[in-house]
Amino acid sequence: MSAPVVIVGGGIAGLAAAVDLTTRAIPVLLLEQKPKLGGRAYSFVDADTGEVVDNGQHVLIAGYERTLRFLERIGARDRLTIQPQPQLVLHHPQRGFCEFTLPKLPSPLHLIAGILSSNLFSFSDRIKLLRAGAAIRRRADPTIDAMTIERWLNSIGQSTELKRSFWEPLAIAIMNEHIANASATIFLNALRHAFLANWRNAALAIPRVGLSELYVDNAQACIESAGSVVRCNADVVSLVIEGDIVRGVTLRDDETIEAAAVILAVPHFRLDALMPPAWRGEVEHARLLSVPSVPIVSIHLWYQRDFMPHEVVGLIGRRVQWIFNKRKITRECGVGGHLSCVISGARDFVDLSNDELIRIAGEDVVSVFSHASPTPNHALVIREKRATFSSSPESEKLRPDHRTSFRNLFLAGDWTNTGLPATIEGAIMSGERCAGLAMRLAAVKGDRRACRQAGV
Ligand SMILES: Cc1cc2nc3c(=O)[nH]c(=O)nc-3n(C[C@H](O)[C@H](O)[C@H](O)COP(=O)(O)OP(=O)(O)OC[C@H]3O[C@@H](n4cnc5c(N)ncnc54)[C@H](O)[C@@H]3O)c2cc1C
Repeated sequence: MSAPVVIVGGGIAGLAAAVDLTTRAIPVLLLEQKPKLGGRAYSFVDADTGEVVDNGQHVLIAGYERTLRFLERIGARDRLTIQPQPQLVLHHPQRGFCEFTLPKLPSPLHLIAGILSSNLFSFSDRIKLLRAGAAIRRRADPTIDAMTIERWLNSIGQSTELKRSFWEPLAIAIMNEHIANASATIFLNALRHAFLANWRNAALAIPRVGLSELYVDNAQACIESAGSVVRCNADVVSLVIEGDIVRGVTLRDDETIEAAAVILAVPHFRLDALMPPAWRGEVEHARLLSVPSVPIVSIHLWYQRDFMPHEVVGLIGRRVQWIFNKRKITRECGVGGHLSCVISGARDFVDLSNDELIRIAGEDVVSVFSHASPTPNHALVIREKRATFSSSPESEKLRPDHRTSFRNLFLAGDWTNTGLPATIEGAIMSGERCAGLAMRLAAVKGDRRACRQAGV
């Protein structure tokens, strides 16, 4: 009788691994330290308004194939709406509202037509952008691995205005990191997939429900209905190691649970506590622990009325980078307006007081929507200090593979070596890859008694 595959961490990577394994009839035990699942993607009810609030607005694109497949699998795909055509509305301090729309043409014609027709760029900048498009299409150049996005942009002659009004907002949205720091290679991987595969991929996919309802509720039901087990408030403190095999995990209350394989789906900064001492000395991954995280600050503002005609607007040259209109996005039936203002790469903002952040967000809202009330009725500030790891040319070299030197121990999470930025898509890719690796090892196929044996 074999033990289940134990997954440590009930974020999106852990959930994706668990759903993948359970749909293949492999028993799983998912252990989450916190009282609820979802990790860095969760929602909760705001006590003052009674409305569902995300810990940070999450946006996907139609090209996130794994994410869409995962949502399809758990029966939540209809909780997301994909734009019929890729379109970004941006607000420029001098030019006002500008659009960047990609027409339904074969690639790369869609991109060429989109750039040439956008009123966001001057004529000479449109030509420079076409040059950038050609550079993105070229085969990977290994020298780019050592470059930040800014260095790469300079190497292909992008203007200061283009960097400010197009590349910086795009990089911040995709990488949660500024062009001066972020890895050019990872950015280019993301751009190739979003903008060069076909016209559809860059369309925004916007959740119509809270993050927990989108990613967690059905996933948990899916895992449990297959006979597997989810345990929250289960803090794993160590692994039980025998030679190059992990026999199980130990919880904070000293309970030991046997495992056929273990998938560690915890954030990179939690790895240290769980890594077997032998492993720490053996590989360079301990250096990963020194990789800094980048904060995201979300400021929710409630107003007397809904004055914003768009679902989402990107702000150029302001402190807030994106304003999401929650009333239009979620079709909430709350009273008045509800905006979610996002500041990514928020190192300079995360330590400001709530009052200061609310003032900044309110000012930026008024700078775009002059008829907005200068003071909201109610506000809520959410700081995610460790929203994502900082993807720089240096940190990219440290992202580990999913396999470890222990035969049945695998690593999942948006920080593992997926070639993608720290995103939901990367988290799901890592979880499913680990599920594939664990599947080959697990001798537990269809054995539901294994879970009971493991005391669950
Ligand atoms: C504010 C914000 C906005 C974002 N916006 C976007 C976006 O627009 N688009 C996008 O694609 N991505 C976005 N992301 C990134 C996305 O949320 C993450 O990439 C993804 O959620 C990471 O999932 P994960 O499973 O790898 O890690 P996590 O979500 O960190 O999950 C790890 C889990 O492990 C648990 N854990 C840790 N230690 C232990 C232990 N010892 N025992 C048991 N459990 C443990 C943790 O409690 C956690 O639940 C955003 C993130 C934030 C914070």
